[in-house]
Amino acid sequence: MKVGLRDDDTSYFTDPARLEAVYHDVWHRIPVGLAVIPQAAGFVDKAIPEKYWDAGRSFPLDENAPLAESLRALVKAGRVTISQHGYTHEDYPDGHEFQAAPDLESRLAHGQAYLERVLDTRIRVFVPPHNALSKRGLRAIDAAGLNLLGSFLSFRPSMRPWDRRTPANWWRIKQYRSKTSRTKADRFVYPHVLRYRNHAEFGCCSLIPNTTFDELKRAFDEARAAGGNFCLATHYWEVDATLKSVLVQFLDYAEGFPDVTFVPVERLFDAA
Ligand SMILES: [Zn+2]
Repeated sequence: MKVGLRDDDTSYFTDPARLEAVYHDVWHRIPVGLAVIPQAAGFVDKAIPEKYWDAGRSFPLDENAPLAESLRALVKAGRVTISQHGYTHEDYPDGHEFQAAPDLESRLAHGQAYLERVLDTRIRVFVPPHNALSKRGLRAIDAAGLNLLGSFLSFRPSMRPWDRRTPANWWRIKQYRSKTSRTKADRFVYPHVLRYRNHAEFGCCSLIPNTTFDELKRAFDEARAAGGNFCLATHYWEVDATLKSVLVQFLDYAEGFPDVTFVPVERLFDAA
């Protein structure tokens, strides 16, 4: 069983000391899949320092030179891997970035090329801001061939671009839902990779304020019983002492199973 760890929202606004404070005793056990915003917009958001709230522009990651340098060293040391988290992570009146921005294809292409150049790595995975994607957003990701890490991604065929693999995937989800006695209204994380024409998708379980170890244990045990894999997703800027102890307790628990391997999130998509 593979277990991955994803952390969202590293951007120009991130103090590398904050990542270090949260993960210094974690990333030697499990590499952290940092979902990085290439050109973060300054706007009113609790993940952004207040002095940038009315900046009215976006900030390239490498304008924060200490951060870029620290990330390059962490990548080289195998402590983190880098995925792409939107382009500016801005909201629109009618949705989040990858639901509503007009130019999704170029945002994907420019963001990927920029991160690869600045952080000297390869980008294989995309994480949509707020885990939100329109049909158009999904089509752009499939065309770009990036794998998708989300949480509670929509499985509704009507919300997806045409793909001959959709009906079989939809059927697998339906079977899983009924096997675990869930209704259509119950949100859940499907513990297997779903493969589409040119990309694959995997869902993560969220670690946010008020998430308990028991909730994570239950989700992990369920994925394990189903012969699946598991990804935990959090935000470094929300990780306080309580959340950190839940994270460590979870890693200790998962590591106790001899067949569990901690992997970079990219490896969750490897062929079985
Ligand atoms: Zn985000």
